Amino acid sequence: MTTSPPTALTIAGSDSGGGAGIQADLRTFFACGVHGMTAITAVTVQNSVGVRGFTEIPADVVTDQIRAVAEDMGVHAAKTGMLATAEIITAVASTLDNVHIGLHGTAPLVVDPVAASMHGDALLRADALEAIRTELFPRATLVTPNLDEVRLLTGMEVTGPDSQRAAAEALLALGPRWVLVKGGHLHTDPRCVDLLSDGTEHVELAGPRYDTPHTHGGGDTLASAITAGLAKGLDVPDAAAAGKRFIERAVAESYPLGAGVGPVSPFW
Ligand code: PLP
Repeated sequence: MTTSPPTALTIAGSDSGGGAGIQADLRTFFACGVHGMTAITAVTVQNSVGVRGFTEIPADVVTDQIRAVAEDMGVHAAKTGMLATAEIITAVASTLDNVHIGLHGTAPLVVDPVAASMHGDALLRADALEAIRTELFPRATLVTPNLDEVRLLTGMEVTGPDSQRAAAEALLALGPRWVLVKGGHLHTDPRCVDLLSDGTEHVELAGPRYDTPHTHGGGDTLASAITAGLAKGLDVPDAAAAGKRFIERAVAESYPLGAGVGPVSPFW
């Protein structure tokens, strides 16, 4: 290969079990044909059973990683995952402006507002949720909350399509250009319906619901696949549709590993 592929940057935490976080992001970028780069925010100690704890990386080391790759290699699209602390979030937000990523810049930014693992283990210190709302949402091209994150961010309980639409509107009021309210935890529908909206256009992304407990890293994988699509120049609706197809396949082929919850699969 003599030409450079598109580049995507993930600003997120490491998962020692290899199922979620930076590890899921990098293999998704690879599978989607983009060059993946990382700004690691925290090192989690976890396996298939749960998160035993995490240590955050100093905020200036996080932002130095972003600047180093942006200044030299260029970033076609970026995503945030686990950000750990309000201090990291605030530092990341102003650095993204400086390197022209997000709504104030030219490269799209996907914000996956990771707050806790599927086991309920916190991945964010208590004061950090407000920083995600005020510092990152106004800079985001797209935010991708699941229904637990919707509740934490807006106080709204999504129980069906009407409240999913209302939640999308409440989240858009926080400033992102687009929101994807993921319906995977909405068991009133036999399908898995995600709502993509910019307030004007409302797109239902519907797919099959697979009967598997092994969905660790699913949220990260979807957000990364969308980010890869944006890095390749797709618009948000096309990148979201491509991301949805990617995560469906990854969930369909997920596998057991360890005594707890196995990961969505990068193998196909
Ligand atoms: N660990 C890290 C580092 C993550 O970024 C995430 C999710 O974003 C998780 C764990 C939790 O993944 P899950 O909710 O799929 O268990």
